Amino acid sequence: MVGRLLNDRYELRSVIGRGGMADVWLAVDGRLGRPVAVKMLHNDGGADPSLPERFEREAHTAAQLSHPSIVAVYDFGVDDGTPYLVMELVQGHSLADELAAGPLDPRRAVHIAEQVCDALAAAHDAGVVHRDVKPANILISDEGGVKVCDFGIARITDRAQTALTATATVIGTSSYMAPEQVLGEPVDARTDLYALGCVLYAMLAGRPPFLADSPVQTAWQQVHQAAVPVTVLRPGLPPRLAGLVGALLAKRAADRPASAAQVRAALAGAASGATTAVLGGEAPIRGRAAVRPPTRSLPELAEPPAPATRRRGRSVGIALAALGAAAVAVAVLALGTLPGRSGHPAAAPTPAETTQSLPSADTSSAAPSETPAETPTDTPSPTPTDTPSDPTEAMLAAARAALEAQVGDGGLDSGTARELNRRLDRLGRELARGNDERAAAELAGLRDRIDQLHQDGTLTGTGYEAVLSLADQLAANLPAPAPSASGTDPTPEPLSPPPGV
Ligand code: ADP
Ligand code: MG
Repeated sequence: MVGRLLNDRYELRSVIGRGGMADVWLAVDGRLGRPVAVKMLHNDGGADPSLPERFEREAHTAAQLSHPSIVAVYDFGVDDGTPYLVMELVQGHSLADELAAGPLDPRRAVHIAEQVCDALAAAHDAGVVHRDVKPANILISDEGGVKVCDFGIARITDRAQTALTATATVIGTSSYMAPEQVLGEPVDARTDLYALGCVLYAMLAGRPPFLADSPVQTAWQQVHQAAVPVTVLRPGLPPRLAGLVGALLAKRAADRPASAAQVRAALAGAASGATTAVLGGEAPIRGRAAVRPPTRSLPELAEPPAPATRRRGRSVGIALAALGAAAVAVAVLALGTLPGRSGHPAAAPTPAETTQSLPSADTSSAAPSETPAETPTDTPSPTPTDTPSDPTEAMLAAARAALEAQVGDGGLDSGTARELNRRLDRLGRELARGNDERAAAELAGLRDRIDQLHQDGTLTGTGYEAVLSLADQLAANLPAPAPSASGTDPTPEPLSPPPGV
């Protein structure tokens, strides 16, 4: 391949990047005498007949966009049966490369996120949803500019959905994939904002919010588990920044910030330590929604089979079949089950039920080499040594720390903080004893109390968000309340999450 001349114009010099779908070459445009990047499918689409079509769509979609933070497309052609895409050459590295060295300084993370927001705002304004926003698709030039690349699975929102986009619906990278994308539901600009939230989280914490042993488990977590607050993994973050990350990770798109421009504006002041709401008057509502336990955010999934549930199950099944990963359906259809305490499953399907992983047929995302953070085993734990390793303990500690910080800021009186800390102590004790009913009662009392304190203005900002987040996550990990005694109970034996979730 080295030295190959495409259409007598582009001479391939060396491979500079490799994704799930394609290789990207450094090449020279002989006609204009300048270096360019040339993207070529790994296998000319032989393994997946839809790839060349997707590739050409990528060229058309990206060519519509002209923005300094989006990699420019120069040309598309076919040489001897091989399609290729010619792009602006970004001399630099990807964000995935940068994250391999660990988490970033919050100011740098914000700077990068701001530029990604600019790129997304431009794409969304043009009616394009990227659908694969992740560190490997964010390039950083040697001059420091950020450029979003890889519109390979982008979708133009205002056109009728074609068969192609239907099968591509769940393609993406599960660690950065919004719940609606996992479920094969319609996506929009807010789907990219969720992914941006995952990227921001990864930049700050050194790992994305959900990172299980397999892509299927990770996808399951995207739908059902609340993320551990980023401040647990990275204590001391500016509260506004942590709040924004939480808002972006809302399970329901409606609870996320509405636009990339809105996120951009919020980011502008988020790296400072101020505790004012980042998203105007709606911030507490959005932040609150963001940390609602997914079992409540998506209640229909926990209910007995009903039309809505069957519809959802069918769409997931179709999406998975499109990936050639039918066995995964068993795992992903197990969407209604609560995880056990601390995220451990109460029961797990046998390995035979979940032998395949979601992106195994997902050519745009199954590249561990492209996404180091996707490989759980080589992800360094950024958990500081003074943070308890047990997630429940870590969350309790984070809540206490947030209360303490708020007392320090003069935003909470120490008497109320002591009262809340006593409640946290009681809750921790009941959880440690495995007394779920009493823990649930403590949790309910705690929620009522913080809601009351929030309403009367005693508990605001970080303290409120942290305790609420903790309460929501613990509630998500407690067994579901017993069904009401009235009538017959048609609830079937609950399905279980994939192993290790
Ligand atoms: P895929 O669709 O296979 O994921 P990408 O378009 O993401 O392919 O490209 C794969 C990798 O190639 C990227 O992660 C990046 O490292 C590199 N790359 C892509 N486009 C460019 C470019 N224009 N300039 C420099 N490197 C690039
Ligand atoms: Mg890519």
